Amino acid sequence: MARRQIVKIDEEKCNGCGVCVSPCVEGAITIENGKAKVKNEALCDGAGFCIGTCPQGALSVETREAPDFDESAVEEQVKQNPGSYLPQVCFNCGRNEDQVPVLPCRREGKSIWVCTKCLPALIHG
Ligand code: SF4
Ligand SMILES: [Zn+2]
Repeated sequence: MARRQIVKIDEEKCNGCGVCVSPCVEGAITIENGKAKVKNEALCDGAGFCIGTCPQGALSVETREAPDFDESAVEEQVKQNPGSYLPQVCFNCGRNEDQVPVLPCRREGKSIWVCTKCLPALIHG
């Protein structure tokens, strides 16, 4: 156990849409009984890439006592569920993160991913 950052899911706000599941590279989030759940806290590194994906604002990161992040548990999880992570795709050009870095972004109330090639045009108009 250690005091560290870890994802927090607000069940009142979560509608179980599942949008947060595939962007988690560690596969830490699953949907159970219509709500997002952390399947194993050792899988969550607290990086918070899921936060911007939630259209309901149900995700945040908190600091508390939690099991240590476990890289080998992540490797095992990914091996057992090879489809749990999907490379994210730029909303503008369609390139995925294997081709160019992509960033989570909010636009007009929606969670989108934008690549670093398209981002300057969004910033500068
Ligand atoms: S994206 Fe948000 S609302 Fe959708 S399942 Fe995940 S936590 Fe729940
Ligand atoms: Zn792009």
